[in-house]
Amino acid sequence: MKNRGFQWKLAALFGMGWQIFGCSGGDLSAEMADYGSAKVEFLDVGQGLSVLLQGDGGKFKALYDAGNDSAGFWDSLRVRNVTHLDWALISHWHRDHAGGFLEWESSVIIDTLFYSNDPGGSLLKDSVLKLAKRFGTPAVPVERGKELHCAEWTCKILWPAKFSDFEGNNASAVLQVSDGKLRALFTGDLESLGEAELLEISNDLRAELLQVGHHGSATSTSLRFLEQVSPLMAVISVGKKNSYGHPAKSTLKKLNFATGDSSKIFRTDLLGSISMEWRLGKGLWRGNY
Ligand SMILES: [Zn+2]
Repeated sequence: MKNRGFQWKLAALFGMGWQIFGCSGGDLSAEMADYGSAKVEFLDVGQGLSVLLQGDGGKFKALYDAGNDSAGFWDSLRVRNVTHLDWALISHWHRDHAGGFLEWESSVIIDTLFYSNDPGGSLLKDSVLKLAKRFGTPAVPVERGKELHCAEWTCKILWPAKFSDFEGNNASAVLQVSDGKLRALFTGDLESLGEAELLEISNDLRAELLQVGHHGSATSTSLRFLEQVSPLMAVISVGKKNSYGHPAKSTLKKLNFATGDSSKIFRTDLLGSISMEWRLGKGLWRGNY
């Protein structure tokens, strides 16, 4: 696996079918339409996580986590004119990921609410599931092996596994999004213990784009895990001057090493919402919108 990651880095260096560069989103070339494009957007929800996926020319919309309550999540959807989500997935039952659903706005229709089978957070879970019931949204627990409808992508749940008895961070639903060639990996707040177990049962975790686990905490993103994922770009969703000291210097160091370029590590505390244009099978671009 080591070599595979290395090959991808070589491909990046020599431009073999993979390019990354910053650009202003509005200027994306017309050529993009030939391949089709989708969008991954890390919403600025302060110290928390929320990722909006958009495919099928914008007709498909899905969500990975909703940040904390009172963190502006619903405003973020409103300014983007999002009134319908094909599904939303709650990585685990911590307030900075699921709290946004406490303020669930009836103006946004969610077809299905998926959630990690995290046994923790029962108060929050009960409140959110009650709201789902009120809005007539089926709520479905997920674990490894589940595939979610995902427009041009394939979206697979890699974690938690049936045998896992973790709760909280290490029970985070890990989502792999793939277009058949390029991949993104969303790990919620998975920490090194969960990473180690996921590594045991996975023979290919490679992903070009990594959502850095647990807001860049030193307890996540082990070197072994990072080596297997071998990301070319990494995004840390983290609050400005948060009291946890996230992201940890040690994590930034490891990410620098893995990506080989500090400019490929994006942080919501420094950049606000971060949008990635996903040119299917071709590459990912960061846009400024
Ligand atoms: Zn968190």
